[in-house]
Amino acid sequence: MGSEKETYTFRCTVCGWEYESDSPELPEDFVCEVCGVGPDMFELVEE
Ligand SMILES: [Zn+2]
Repeated sequence: MGSEKETYTFRCTVCGWEYESDSPELPEDFVCEVCGVGPDMFELVEE
């Protein structure tokens, strides 16, 4: 009850790589594992 962990999916708008996080924000030093862009280039995927 109420202990379900929420996950957030972020998608790189440059290459389409997806990353799952339990935080609604990516860390400042986060980089795409595929193309190397920073968190500014990611969008939160609403499902
Ligand atoms: Zn990328």
